[in-house]
Amino acid sequence: MTCLFCKIIAREIPADIVYEDDEVLAFNDIAPQAPVHQLIIPKKHIATLNDIDEADLALIGRLQFTAAKLAKQQGFAEDGYRVVMNCNELGGQTVYHIHMHLMGGRAFSWPAG
Ligand code: ADP
Repeated sequence: MTCLFCKIIAREIPADIVYEDDEVLAFNDIAPQAPVHQLIIPKKHIATLNDIDEADLALIGRLQFTAAKLAKQQGFAEDGYRVVMNCNELGGQTVYHIHMHLMGGRAFSWPAG
C-alpha cells in the first residue's frame, strides 16, 4: 500500500482521528492553516475528483455532510467556515486520495490564492 491516507485508514501511520464511520474518516491536518483544520476522506481509495463515478455519489455527499456535522459539533457552523477540495497539480493537490479540507475558527478571504 503506497497511499498515505490509506495507511492512516489502516492505522499503519498515526493520525489524530476526530470522526469515523463505515465509509468516512476525519482527522486533524498535520500542518493546520486555521485554528481548526481537518481532512475528511472516504475509506475507499479515489485518487482525484476526476475519478469519482456514479456509484460514489452518496459517498461524496457523506463527506460534505460530515464536514457540516463536525463544524456544528465544534461550534463554528453558524459563524462560518471553509471547505476545499483540490484537484491535481494546478489545483494544489499533493496527496492523491481525495480529501475535503474543513477549516474554521478564523475569517477566510476570497478569491482563493
Ligand atoms: P496541500 O498539501 O497543498 O494542502 P492537498 O489538498 O492535497 O494539498 O492537501 C493535503 C493535506 O494533507 C495537507 O493539508 C497536508 O498538511 C495534509 N497531510 C499530509 N500528511 C498528513 C498526515 N500524515 N496527517 C495529517 N495530514 C497530513
